[in-house]
Amino acid sequence: MIYIDDTLLQKLEAFYKGERKLTVLTGAGLSADSGIPTFRDTDGFWTVGSKNYMPEEMGTLRMFRQKPLEVWKWFLYRNTICSKALPNKGHFAITELEKLFGDRFRLITQNVDGLHHKAGTSEKRTYLIHGTLEKVRCGEECSKAFYPFPDFAFEKNQELTAEQSEQLKCPQCGDYLRPHVLWFDERYNEKHYKLDSSMRTAKETGLLLTIGSSGATNLPMLVTESVLSRQGMLVDINPNANAFSELAYTKKNGFVIRAKSSDALPEFVELFSQLKRKA
Ligand SMILES: [Zn+2]
Repeated sequence: MIYIDDTLLQKLEAFYKGERKLTVLTGAGLSADSGIPTFRDTDGFWTVGSKNYMPEEMGTLRMFRQKPLEVWKWFLYRNTICSKALPNKGHFAITELEKLFGDRFRLITQNVDGLHHKAGTSEKRTYLIHGTLEKVRCGEECSKAFYPFPDFAFEKNQELTAEQSEQLKCPQCGDYLRPHVLWFDERYNEKHYKLDSSMRTAKETGLLLTIGSSGATNLPMLVTESVLSRQGMLVDINPNANAFSELAYTKKNGFVIRAKSSDALPEFVELFSQLKRKA
């Protein structure tokens, strides 16, 4: 094994024989190998008239209330990029882990790009804590209905046609629909973003793999701290230093693999496949 050393190997074998859950937590770094930018910093600039907006300004309920069509244009453009992208080896390895672990598996993802779904990970064991670009809902919450994301391609500097603008309206009340994503000025909740389910899963987790996430948002960090507080293991897989690896370095049950998930995750699949064959 290249990425899993002997100490980690022994711990993973002991974990496999137990009953606690395998939870995989993923962030934007996983989808970088599929060509999806993070849409933070300069990747996410959006120009309205002569003014540049930061993603933290565009992706807000406040901006949606002020300029719904500008927010929609930004999301249509992002969705156009995401809808062309394909899952990579990392996504497929995670799907294999679900097959190996069945109901001991959970996926908590910050990614809204739909690539886990495309790779075949089941919806019932996936918590989309930042929502998904696959769905929209009424911006006024007039009902509990979800609708598919509008399917027209949209480039930067394009204008919406009247017909396209109509497609962005709720069929029930006529107000604007919104992407089913958590905005920067909104809070996590169970109804849309599986806050309680994620925290409950953390309590049952014996092995947490954090993948391609910087730890910049608070729910992933709360999940991680909860796992560690109950003697669960944390393995951070990321080519870059981040908040999870910093935490892992300070804990007996913490491990850091400085590699791309598309390289390191197949080794976990191979190991657990071997253990399953032996069992
Ligand atoms: Zn409505």
